[in-house]
Amino acid sequence: MTQHEQNTPDGQLSPDNPATRHPKVSPPEQHQSEPGLDVKTDPVPDIGLDSYVGTGRLQGAKALVTGGDSGIGAAVAVAFAREGADVAIAYLPAEEEDAQRVVKAIEEAGQKAVALPGDLMDADYRTSVVDDAAQQLGGLTILVNNAGKQVVSESLEELTDEQVAATFQINILSMFTLSRAALRHMGPGSTIINTTSIQAYSPSPTLLDYASTKAAINNFTKGLAQQVAEKGIRVNAVAPGPVWTVLQVSSGQPKEKLPKFGHDAPIGRAGQPVEMAPAYVFLASPESSFVIGETLNANGGDPTP
Ligand code: NAD
Ligand code: MG
Repeated sequence: MTQHEQNTPDGQLSPDNPATRHPKVSPPEQHQSEPGLDVKTDPVPDIGLDSYVGTGRLQGAKALVTGGDSGIGAAVAVAFAREGADVAIAYLPAEEEDAQRVVKAIEEAGQKAVALPGDLMDADYRTSVVDDAAQQLGGLTILVNNAGKQVVSESLEELTDEQVAATFQINILSMFTLSRAALRHMGPGSTIINTTSIQAYSPSPTLLDYASTKAAINNFTKGLAQQVAEKGIRVNAVAPGPVWTVLQVSSGQPKEKLPKFGHDAPIGRAGQPVEMAPAYVFLASPESSFVIGETLNANGGDPTP
């Protein structure tokens, strides 16, 4: 029996039961310095490499996914490719090993992959990454603003202005720059999807900077959605709950909380990145044409406003 199977309530994984479709992880205490690597996380987050099956819902689409090397962004990039999209991923240079795993999966799906390493703290990179993606993909129809920084801080006293500024720059300010650039390339049928969080409504006392950016992302999504709807461009958001990713082990949670990460969600476990991907596929595909300015919560059952 694998560690995963032992962790499920009845010792078995069952694809028909959402509670036991994926393992209930009880990760050992561990730490990686930011941004960390999926491939070094224990257990390795499930980005759908062995499980996500596409049905051609994004044929011909051209997508840029920020933070597409690992976790939720990687699962989205893999799913988009298997749905028929060409996919560019943006990520930090230190994440090349994770990024190459995703590039390989996109190519194995028969789609074009574009790798765009760089730091969203760097103004030159921020202003050029979308144009580079569009140029190399031959257009842009989907932007997923997913890159994020989450670092716990016990008190406001401990939380530095430098950290607050970086969290805001990466999580929300970059969305203004990247979305503005993307809209220059986009026509009717294009979509922007922003990753927010349950933290937007239920902030942890130790994530003041992070949680406030996530609330801002919801608001930005609803405002921009109204601005561009008439052009036939839709803007929406996905709000994940606890999802097992390297973000949590690179200072996103106090180490001692990792073994029970996600256990108090109504479904009884943390989600896996692959479980987030269908929400992004739905919002990116033409079938969600009347869904605009919406935040789709994928959080294992916690009530949201
Ligand atoms: P992750 O660490 O796998 O992904 C985050 C990515 O952000 C990194 O891979 C990195 O490429 C990118 N990033 C961080 N700093 C950057 C910078 N300075 N420049 C460029 N890129 C940078 O973790 P994840 O959990 O998959 O996070 C993806 C998104 O999901 C984030 O926006 C996060 O806030 C959000 N989210 C995660 C959870 C969760 O429980 N894991 C819950 C709610 C929301
Ligand atoms: Mg990463």
